[in-house]
Amino acid sequence: TRTPVNVTVTGAAGQIGYALLFRIASGQLLGADVPVKLRLLEIPQGVKAAEGTAMELDDCAFPLLQGIDIFDDANQAFSGANVALLVGARPRTAGMERGDLLAANGGIFGPQGKAINDNAADDIKVLVVGNPANTNALIAQQHAPDVPADRFTAMTRLDHNRAIAQLAKKTGAAVSDISKVTIWGNHSATQYPDIFHAEIAGKNAAEAVADEQWLADDFIPTVAKRGAAIIDARGASSAASAANAAIDHVYTWVNGTAEGDWTSAGVVSDGSYGVPEGLISSFPVTAKNGRFEIVQGLDINAFSRPRIDASVAELVAERDEVKKLGLI
Ligand code: NDP
Repeated sequence: TRTPVNVTVTGAAGQIGYALLFRIASGQLLGADVPVKLRLLEIPQGVKAAEGTAMELDDCAFPLLQGIDIFDDANQAFSGANVALLVGARPRTAGMERGDLLAANGGIFGPQGKAINDNAADDIKVLVVGNPANTNALIAQQHAPDVPADRFTAMTRLDHNRAIAQLAKKTGAAVSDISKVTIWGNHSATQYPDIFHAEIAGKNAAEAVADEQWLADDFIPTVAKRGAAIIDARGASSAASAANAAIDHVYTWVNGTAEGDWTSAGVVSDGSYGVPEGLISSFPVTAKNGRFEIVQGLDINAFSRPRIDASVAELVAERDEVKKLGLI
C-alpha cells in the first residue's frame, strides 16, 4: 500500500475550501489510487467551521482519506506537507488601496512561506489561490530560501479553463477539441488570454475565429472579468470553479500534460518572453515528471505583445510595492 500524501489547505473553512476538500479526499487531486491526509489551516475564528467540514468529510467515508488534522499554527499545518494549497487570504475591502492589500497579505504569506521552508517535505509543491495570487506566491517563495523556487506557483488555471469554455461557445467546438490556450501575466483584470497558438481539432483557433474585434472586445474582457460577472449573478464569488481549477492545476503538475498540449500556470520566470526573471507570471507550460516547464519559442504577434507587457508591468509594480513595504 502507498504511503499517504500530506495535503495542507489554508483557508479551509472558506467557500473555496468547502468545494475543494471533498474532491481532494475523493482522489481527484492526485489520482484515484493515491491515499491522502488532510492538514487544514485556519485562523482561530475559522477553526470551528473547519471542524464542521471535517465531520462531513468523515461522513463521506472516503476510502482514500487517511486522516484530517486541523491547526491554527502554520508550522504545524505545513509539517511534512507534500502539497500545499494556499487558499486563505485577506480579501480587498471597500476603500482598501493596493498597498494595504499587499501589506495585509504579506503578513499572511511571508510567515507561511517560512513555515513551508522550515517544516514541509522535501518534495513540497505549493499552489497559491488566495489573491493577489501571483504576488502572494512571490512573497511566500522569497521566504523559503531552502525550497527550490519552481515549487511555488500561482493559479491561472481558472482563467485558462474560462478561455477554453468561451472559445468552445463561440466556435461550437467541443471543449475536448481545444488545446494550447495560454493565459499570460497576472491573475487579475490585466491578464491576457491568447488564442493565437491555440488549436481547435488541430487547426489554428485564431484563424478559425477570424474575428479580431471579437477577441479584443468580447473574448478577452469576458475571460478577464468573469469573476465579477459571477458575483453579480450568484451573489457570491466563484468557488466551485475555482476549486476545480486548483484540482486541475495540481493534477496536471503531478501527472503531466497531454502530448501536444499545454496548460497555463503562474510560475517563476526565467526571463522568457521578456518577463523579468524571478516574477511569478502566467505562461504556457507543459508538465512532466512533476515539473512545469515554460513552452519556448512561440511567436508573439503585434496584437499580443502590448497585452502581455501590460499585465507583466502590473506584476512588476506589485513586486516593487512589496519590496518597498519590506515584505520581500
Ligand atoms: P474564498 O474561499 O471564496 O476565497 C479564498 C481566496 O481565494 C480569496 O483570496 C479569493 O480572492 C481567492 N480566489 C482566487 N480565485 C478565485 C476565484 N476565481 N473566485 C473566488 N475567489 C478566488 O474566501 P472565503 O472568505 O470564503 O474564505 C477564506 C477563508 O480563509 C476564511 O475561512 C478565513 O478564515 C481563511 N483565512 C485563513 C488564513 C490562514 O489560514 N492563515 C488567512 C486568511 C484567511 P478574492 O478575495 O479576490 O475573491
